[in-house]
Amino acid sequence: MNVLPRKMDCLQMEEKWQRQWEADGTHRYDWDDDTRPVYSIDTPPPYPSGDFHMGNFLNWTYFDVRARYKRMRGYNVLFPQGWDCHGLPTEVRVEKAKGIRKSDVPPDVFRRMCEEWIEQYIGIMKTAVIRMGCSVDWTTEYRTMEPEYMRKIQLSFLQLYEKDMIYKGEHPINWCPRCETAIADAEVEHETKRGRIYTIPFYTDDGEVLIATTRPVYLPACVALGVHPEDERYRHLIGGKARVPVFGQEVPIIANDEVDPGFGTGAMMICTYGDKADVVAVARFNLPVVKLIDGRGILQTVAGEYAGMPIAEGQEALVEDMREAGLIKEEHELDQEVGLCWRCDTPIEVVTALQWFMRTISLTDKVVETAKRITWYPDWMRQRLIDWATGLDWDWVLSRQRVFATPVPAWYCKSCGKIRLAKPEELPVDPKVTSIDDVCECGGTEFVPDTDVMDTWFDSSLTCAIHAGWPDRPNWRRQFPASVHPSGQDIIRTWAYYLMVRHLALFDETAYESALINGMVFGSDGRMMSKSLGNYVATPEVFSKYGADAPRQWAAAGGSTGTDIPFRWEDVEYGWRFMRKLWNACRFTGMRLQDYDPAEGVEPMLLDRWIVSKLQRTVKKATEAMENCDFMNATEATRNFIWHVFCDHYLEAAKTRLYGDGDGKKAAQQTLLYTVERMIKLMAPIMPHIIEEIWRTMYDPNASIHLSAWPMYDEAMIDEEAEKTGDIVIAAISDIRREKNRMGVSLNASMKSVKLFASGNEAEALRLGSTDIKDTLKIESLEIFAGGGGDMNLEDYPEIGFTVTL
Ligand SMILES: [Zn+2]
Ligand SMILES: [Zn+2]
Repeated sequence: MNVLPRKMDCLQMEEKWQRQWEADGTHRYDWDDDTRPVYSIDTPPPYPSGDFHMGNFLNWTYFDVRARYKRMRGYNVLFPQGWDCHGLPTEVRVEKAKGIRKSDVPPDVFRRMCEEWIEQYIGIMKTAVIRMGCSVDWTTEYRTMEPEYMRKIQLSFLQLYEKDMIYKGEHPINWCPRCETAIADAEVEHETKRGRIYTIPFYTDDGEVLIATTRPVYLPACVALGVHPEDERYRHLIGGKARVPVFGQEVPIIANDEVDPGFGTGAMMICTYGDKADVVAVARFNLPVVKLIDGRGILQTVAGEYAGMPIAEGQEALVEDMREAGLIKEEHELDQEVGLCWRCDTPIEVVTALQWFMRTISLTDKVVETAKRITWYPDWMRQRLIDWATGLDWDWVLSRQRVFATPVPAWYCKSCGKIRLAKPEELPVDPKVTSIDDVCECGGTEFVPDTDVMDTWFDSSLTCAIHAGWPDRPNWRRQFPASVHPSGQDIIRTWAYYLMVRHLALFDETAYESALINGMVFGSDGRMMSKSLGNYVATPEVFSKYGADAPRQWAAAGGSTGTDIPFRWEDVEYGWRFMRKLWNACRFTGMRLQDYDPAEGVEPMLLDRWIVSKLQRTVKKATEAMENCDFMNATEATRNFIWHVFCDHYLEAAKTRLYGDGDGKKAAQQTLLYTVERMIKLMAPIMPHIIEEIWRTMYDPNASIHLSAWPMYDEAMIDEEAEKTGDIVIAAISDIRREKNRMGVSLNASMKSVKLFASGNEAEALRLGSTDIKDTLKIESLEIFAGGGGDMNLEDYPEIGFTVTL
């Protein structure tokens, strides 16, 4: 056995092992192995923002601890890594950097600019993932912007179309007038804002009917007046007509039991579309749709003299004019919920547009049933997915009107308009770049491309199948469904949900068997970490000060799984001090084992049996915690054992034997070899580098600890008697040592006499451990008396007294 050097050079050792693991293929998934069970991790491909923050660090620590633990449990672990490249933020950055608008250059040229731009950001994130010691199999690396990946996404599009799970239709959708694109429900942020509500007269044969609305600007698009069928005030008007103020159109008065008679005046205007309730009413009563705004949110001709104005400006002008004309009968402020675009905070409008949709609403029951069946870490996250899925009203709008994304693989016949979808062998394809050589049923030979692209969530919500090798690997189902989908609680409604519906629609099977959800990372002041708040900690700063193993302990033990945790330098420093403690203990062990001959087994002594029994309990606790993704308790149980049981008590008590000779020494050596091997394995998933260094130095220079077997709980090693007796002996040793220290005597100095006073059973325990007590504390004469007495009492055993004479 080799001895660890005095200096613990973490930064150097971490980089050394990262290179070595990659060179040795330590973390490779074996695609041909059919002997070991498979554990497949659905690593979410991150959007490369150019920054790897402590929140990312927390995510990847969870992924990696899980991967390393499962490998040690004998699984063939698939830990892939991809990058989710497409999206508007990159387009905007490229436009700024190059000083162009995306429409200034051909779409394929603009696409290439975006690809080059994103590549540098991938570099930054990849470096960080490697630097923190993630056991990713880099042979699986992929980018969602690659032709190979786009081919798979487009193929899934065709298959879903074939199954009638994708359709093109004219439906109301959420629209961001600034980004000029459709957006999905998941991309709408809801906020409460202060607004105004106006009371306005409509005219009927029976006089005025007042309605209350926050958006008079929608009057030109009013298509009906709704009242509750049992509302006595209005019942006689049902079936008649009402004239809209200012714009003059006549609209039917309809009975709608969705109208709340207690809200406002009890009469409600139905417009296309003021909000989602309007969408429901229009569909239910088969009302016409009036196009009020265009894609940029500009009022159209139907708005009369307000046409050409942006919607907010139009509202202001109209309200002003109505006030002057006496058409505002009442107005006051109120709080209202508004939907905002997640990217630019512009208020969302609801418009009707011809878009591509994926059927998701019809899958809701299946989603709920699947969410109930699979395992959630922690369990209470399950409800978040169920609540989100059951709260959705609309199918998923897939198409976006942008450039840097996966193109919709479709053309239309120029003469008859019939859709011509790409064939699987034509993929990947960008119809805007590649023209199609075909003959339509109508005889037409000219085709125009579909210019839409897909929501980037459509790229990233097929990873469970793609990681598994779909559609090319014949045995892809061996890796599918993913064993675990790990992700943040903030993206359950997007990532976890879209994965679920997408895979259910395509394969009629769950995407993942379990979901591991992490919380958010806060600054040490308890607020969301952000550069503007000054509580932001950058990962390179942490790496250069402490390396990776110390902050990984913060991530694993900083809070229970799923809860938000603050970043605390003190936790990282604590992790660092723990590593020093472990390093020194292992270095000492290595030195004391130089002359050990494992062939000569001897009977273990009391404290040897005591520590091994405590070790077994730790193995049991840590294993149970690891199984449940409870990284905090797994880490705490092991660190406490190593630091406060093994180092503080066992090593101190065994030192004299280890420096001595004979069977006592051999028993201690054999115990050290056994205990250190197991206790470092328990920490291997949490701090992989330092543990590898210790392992290769002391146990096996040629094989990684990360491919060794996780220690198994051995009930036969549990020795309750030894634990009970050992606890008393250890308590006596540490309290007498504390007393020695208090008296200002060096720990190495000997004591003339110690008298211990205890009742029958405890006196017996102390007698059994008397050699350990005597040797550890350097006591010349140790006497044990049955019964009470002594100047002081043991802290944990107040019935045991003692007297020390120097
Ligand atoms: Zn926007
Ligand atoms: Zn045709």
